[in-house]
Amino acid sequence: MTASEATTKRVLLAKPRGYCAGVDRAVVTVEKALEKYGPPIYVRKEIVHNRHVVDTLRERGVIFVEETSEVPEGAMVVFSAHGVSPAVHAEAEERNLRTIDATCPLVTKVHKEVNRFDREDYDILLIGHEGHEEVEGTSGEAPDRVQLVDTAEDVERVRVRDPEKVVWLSQTTLSVDETMERVDQLKERFPNLADPPSDDICYATSNRQIAVKEMAPECDLVIVVGSKNSSNSKRLVEVALQAGATNAYLVDYAREVDESWLDGVSTVGVTSGASVPDVLVMELLEWLSERGWSDVEEVTTANEKIAFALPREIRDARERSSVR
Ligand code: SF4
Repeated sequence: MTASEATTKRVLLAKPRGYCAGVDRAVVTVEKALEKYGPPIYVRKEIVHNRHVVDTLRERGVIFVEETSEVPEGAMVVFSAHGVSPAVHAEAEERNLRTIDATCPLVTKVHKEVNRFDREDYDILLIGHEGHEEVEGTSGEAPDRVQLVDTAEDVERVRVRDPEKVVWLSQTTLSVDETMERVDQLKERFPNLADPPSDDICYATSNRQIAVKEMAPECDLVIVVGSKNSSNSKRLVEVALQAGATNAYLVDYAREVDESWLDGVSTVGVTSGASVPDVLVMELLEWLSERGWSDVEEVTTANEKIAFALPREIRDARERSSVR
């Protein structure tokens, strides 16, 4: 059957979706830095993992670098929402860089947990994805105490000094279900494994997963708007498939949708990762509407009202972000 032969065409639109409080704060931080100090503003790593946001800021005079060593002495550099290790702060200070830290407060919370358990002499098992910037920053708080647990094989590889003094923590943007699986595996090895004082997977990650789980069983296709390097966006695709969607794909832009995905499809689910401006979702809805999927029903599982104060270096009259 082709797309045109499908009978009922409707779109389920997940809510919450898109920008979380930490991403909003990070993007506004860079915009305010541009206004206040003028270009160029350097940003270490992508401020948030979204192609559209990064390209838009680059056009406005932001220079993205991989390391602080690439920033000219004395220049202004913003640290991304994913957080940085103390070694990066120290290097910036050595090079006399002016810094603004846009680390999400919920990532900072995990850094503080690492510090606390390090002081109490625990071995810390950090569940997260190898190579992700957030994991590098968090591990860097206590590199001798933190071991990364990514795969089930990693659970077997972990070595601790005292099995009675081990705690697990996690990256903020993981799949809630998979993380609990990993914790169960760890608890088989270390029955007295301590839990984090509060959830490390952040409210935005879990809320977006709950919303996609709610609509996925009714969807023949779920389209997640988000970038390939966005951990929470990739998790939404996995969660959609696990929750019963027939197919699920990740796209940065509506133009990346392959029309053949719509063959035989009645219900399309749409959501977006925590670093995605809603304008990109609206473009996708328009693209779908042009092809007959104009009936849009919002599936609401939570109303988010969280907002974070801007970093003190640029804290003045807050304006809405224009990268939306
Ligand atoms: S996804 Fe969560 S931890 Fe990451 S920036 Fe957003 S609120 Fe912060």
